[in-house]
Amino acid sequence: MALACAEVRGQEQEQPPAPATLDLHIHLFGTGDAGSGCRLSNRITSGWQFNLLLSRFRGRAGTLDESYVVTLVEDLKASGLARGLILAQDAVYDAAGKPDWKQTHFFAPNDYLFRVVDQHRDLMFPCVSINPNRADAVDELDRCVDKGARALKIHPPTQNVDIADPKHTRFFQRCADHRILVLVHTGHEHSAPVQDIGLASPLKLEPALDQGCTVVACHCGTGWPGDKPDMLPDFLTMLRKYERLWGDSSVLCTIGHAADCLRLIDDELGRERLLHGSDFPFPCAPIAFSGIVKQDELTRIRTLDSELARDLALKDALGIGRTCAERAHQLVAG
Ligand SMILES: [Zn+2]
Repeated sequence: MALACAEVRGQEQEQPPAPATLDLHIHLFGTGDAGSGCRLSNRITSGWQFNLLLSRFRGRAGTLDESYVVTLVEDLKASGLARGLILAQDAVYDAAGKPDWKQTHFFAPNDYLFRVVDQHRDLMFPCVSINPNRADAVDELDRCVDKGARALKIHPPTQNVDIADPKHTRFFQRCADHRILVLVHTGHEHSAPVQDIGLASPLKLEPALDQGCTVVACHCGTGWPGDKPDMLPDFLTMLRKYERLWGDSSVLCTIGHAADCLRLIDDELGRERLLHGSDFPFPCAPIAFSGIVKQDELTRIRTLDSELARDLALKDALGIGRTCAERAHQLVAG
């Protein structure tokens, strides 16, 4: 008996550890009240979404910048995820490639991102943000790669950049040379003022992919019911054309995106190329999947302490949770 137990213990010890998981869409933001350099426009700070989110962080530290990071670190530690990919957010740039602060509603600088991630290296990877319209875009890319960036994020409809413009070819060639993962917002945007929604089309990813970049189409071209145009079919078409194209599941488990989430996961290739992302601090909405996920499971998910854990658990219940999070870790850290 004792021998049998020892054998069982031996077998247990031989089990390989579960593959590491990653959430690849976590925002860094702040107002700059602790010298972070972050900016948020009045249009954002006076909106209901911001004020709802603020109630979760306010007062956790002396400033909003610090309160946000304290909340994020605590949530990440409680999430069960190995790490998060933390996103900076670049500005809008004018025709001369200089920052246009009047048109910029949300800004989180790369240097602040590196400062935060350096303090939490066991939990975070940095994803810088570089608007290809900036005059020094290639230099900034080289600098960020030197500092350890594994990924970069572009948000065309709010940063007012047409990534399919041939003038950006050199920038994407350089991204491919560096083998940096390129995350691009696709689909409809409801959290920040949009300059041109046509810039969010998944078809705009074609030139970057043609340069050899590995690209993540954030949100997979999804939107709310009634949003026009419907960009999800274009994303699914692009998946079939480009093996280096992935989608992320960020924001998909909110009320507005639930219908498109179900359309996406109905597609086999859509599921196979999906990477886990939450869009933290934006919360998921278990109620949006009543009738799809069992009620007792939705109740259990609601009781989880961590926002990131709730998002992962809800996606697990839909079959796009842990596997997508392991895939995301493999792509970013592998
Ligand atoms: Zn996002």
